Amino acid sequence: MEKPLRIGVLAVQGNFREHAAMLRRLGAEPVEVRLPGELEGLDGLIVPGGESTAIGRLMALYGLDDAVQAFDRPIFGTCAGMIVLDRDHLGLGDYRVRRNAFGRQVASFEADLDLGDGEAPLRAVFIRAPWIEEVGPGVEILAEVDGHPVLARQGRLLVAAFHPELTDDTRIHELFLNQVREAAGVRA
Ligand code: GLN
Repeated sequence: MEKPLRIGVLAVQGNFREHAAMLRRLGAEPVEVRLPGELEGLDGLIVPGGESTAIGRLMALYGLDDAVQAFDRPIFGTCAGMIVLDRDHLGLGDYRVRRNAFGRQVASFEADLDLGDGEAPLRAVFIRAPWIEEVGPGVEILAEVDGHPVLARQGRLLVAAFHPELTDDTRIHELFLNQVREAAGVRA
């Protein structure tokens, strides 16, 4: 049998348990990451949603900011995680976000996303979500809401403004695990 992929889930604040459950369901092995040394030997990393200011502060406190910047495997950021990875924060992604972009009235909502894959639309949960405001040339937009990018890929990075760990649709995590397999294949 194929060895399960070991995927770190940054576990300082936010929805890390739900991501871990989703990974387990897809046959990967989740590893909660609270210290830099715990990134060792992982095949990929998820930075979950929550509160980006809190996540950023806690990462700096534990030295996880430098460690994640040095981590050279695929990374998947959701919601606050997408904010943490952008140009203005860790600088791993060549994009800039607008926090709480959908405004107070529609702070939390669900929307059907067309992934352009010919499959059924994906029901996505947005919770005080950011959107992507500006992207560099290496960023591929995979889905939008009202013309605002909410899912994007840049090489080994995948970022989502919504919460794929909160629904039963496993497609976005599968997309990330495929990115992880691709990267591992290139190294082998
Ligand atoms: N509004 C939060 C922030 O700006 C993100 C919300 C979320 O991750 N669900 O950090």
